[in-house]
Amino acid sequence: MNISLTSTHGIATLLFDREGSSANIFDRATLEELSTQLEQIAADNSLKGLLLRSAKPSIFIAGADLKTLSSASGDELASLIDLGHRVFNQLEKLRIPTVAAIHGACVGGGYELALACDWRVASDSSKTRIGLPETKLGILPAWGGSTRLPRLVGLPAALPLVLGGKLLKPEAARRKGLVDAVVPREHLESHSLGYLKNGKRSEPSHFLAHNPVSVAVIRKKAGDDLEDKTRGLYPAQPAALDVMCRAVSGSKDASFSREKEAILDLARRPETASLMRLFQLTERAKKHRYTEAEPREIQRTAVIGAGVMGAGIAYWLSTRGIDVVLRDISEKAVAAGMARISKNYDTSRRKHILSATEAARGLDRIHATARPVPLHRCQLVIEAASEELEIKKTIFADLSQRTAHDTLLATNTSALPIRELAGSIENPWRLLGLHFFNPVHRMQLVEVVRTDQTSDEAIATAIAFVRRIGKMPVLVKDSPGFLVNRILLPYLVEAAEIFEKGGNPKVIDDAMLDFGMPMGPLRLLDEVGLDVAAHVAHTLAAAFPDRMRVPAIAEKLVEAGHLGRKSGKGFYRYGKNGHEPSPKALSLRTGSEPAPRDLQSRLAGLMADEARRCLDEGIAESADDIDLAMVLGTGFAPFRGGPMQI
Ligand code: NAD
Repeated sequence: MNISLTSTHGIATLLFDREGSSANIFDRATLEELSTQLEQIAADNSLKGLLLRSAKPSIFIAGADLKTLSSASGDELASLIDLGHRVFNQLEKLRIPTVAAIHGACVGGGYELALACDWRVASDSSKTRIGLPETKLGILPAWGGSTRLPRLVGLPAALPLVLGGKLLKPEAARRKGLVDAVVPREHLESHSLGYLKNGKRSEPSHFLAHNPVSVAVIRKKAGDDLEDKTRGLYPAQPAALDVMCRAVSGSKDASFSREKEAILDLARRPETASLMRLFQLTERAKKHRYTEAEPREIQRTAVIGAGVMGAGIAYWLSTRGIDVVLRDISEKAVAAGMARISKNYDTSRRKHILSATEAARGLDRIHATARPVPLHRCQLVIEAASEELEIKKTIFADLSQRTAHDTLLATNTSALPIRELAGSIENPWRLLGLHFFNPVHRMQLVEVVRTDQTSDEAIATAIAFVRRIGKMPVLVKDSPGFLVNRILLPYLVEAAEIFEKGGNPKVIDDAMLDFGMPMGPLRLLDEVGLDVAAHVAHTLAAAFPDRMRVPAIAEKLVEAGHLGRKSGKGFYRYGKNGHEPSPKALSLRTGSEPAPRDLQSRLAGLMADEARRCLDEGIAESADDIDLAMVLGTGFAPFRGGPMQI
């Protein structure tokens, strides 16, 4: 049994508590059980109200069972959608008022259940998240969510939530009308019961937003925005837009039928299969055991180097409650790093990602220093100093003296072979790579790099640490460029060389935007920095001379001081009004050959080939890890599922 029904003083309570699981989810059996309970409630004339709540500590209801959804045949899916509609309608049509007391994740089908209630009250806990993320999986809310949400909060508020698949914190959910109140967890039940006194709720009219002219305008604008953002590559969003815009007039039942038709169509599409698989890979990456060893606890860390990456890592760790000693070689470098970190904290406060107290506490956890201080109390040191092997060797030799014998020593190098640092330290079993991506606060992936000598315990500890700080670890073998940079480089080099031979930069970049990459390869080179990219290319060209090169055009641009975005000029020239091809870069081209017609297959094919080599060489454990790392680390077109799928 997954739901229990009790009643006292005329108020019934449905308590969701899925057996043998930390999450509540909806599968066929749970929906049928709910239906039976609702029949009993409807038949009991003594009842005056119904409260729905969860017994789980951090989940209200996490949505539909994705395993069932992704493996269901067309007929099975149709009958599951019908069942959901029928049961949620039963709830909505009860004669008595109903309230959902929401604590923890109230997501997808879980929020669709809440939408069928009269009232919704949420706890103010950091665990509470509310929303309909289905379009991120290539489908749409089809148990009434695409119909009830716009009718409740109005199309203008509902569309961005569903089309963006956004999950909201409690207060944001209240401001947008998704819940009626936010209260401390200890008052959740009493406050929710109070709402039952308001009786049944009638649907708001949204007269101005929902008249046919307004709906046409809203629909056109949202459709144009979607086309700009997704280039027509993600069918779920336009399907949801259509269903939601039609949902605000006419009968609910007709709209439920359109939800069903749309989900049946979307479920058959390859884009949906890729997105569902990626979601499952992400879930797996959160718990996959790469080794049987037990992780050690990490609370105190040091970061060496307060540049772009060091400051980014120190900021992120401190937001996650971890103490950081941040060390650089000069007061000036330390001050620049701290200025970067303060700016990040200011932005997070302004955007309500952190409260003022959380930001102040986070900043307090960073102890910045330009002096060589003892680091014996740190359990982990992350080196993020300049990308020069000799500098790193000196730093590691020093760290070996300055830390405890079992302090884990990690480098954030982009491409240098980590084993070359092993000779500089005692106990090289504690040496590994923790390769964060830039910008650290936004990029979810961390490559955990294992050398031949790294111990299982060090790996288990590093993986657990990466998860604890809310990032996604993928374990890779020590080899130049590791996984992501190695797969990306041949693609970037080829794009730069096509440009150098005369290719139009916009044609090259547009081709890969149309392929589904978040940014064209030349723009990406500019973002990374042409000096940084050339450095990585040198390392990889030395390791794989048969197929990796340093593009001459990048070296020429670096020589001219055109380093990409950070210097305002690279392949493009950057100004207040965006960017345009840089005259200097155009003048450095050596030919006038137009870009080849098969740009997409040629450029993406290079990534696919290198990805297969990485799998053959055991750089990653599986094709799944490679696909996930490329999507999280580079934004590789998620609807295509990753480079191993093309
Ligand atoms: P950066 O030039 O912004 O910062 C490097 C910092 O290291 C500077 O502040 C410098 O003063 C400091 N430093 C130099 N020698 C030092 C020493 N002996 N002790 C302490 N500090 C020292 O470089 P970055 O972009 O932050 O890169 C740092 C590392 O991260 C490099 O290995 C780089 O390859 C890697 N990385 C960079 C990116 C990126 O996109 N920038 C992404 C992933 C990894």
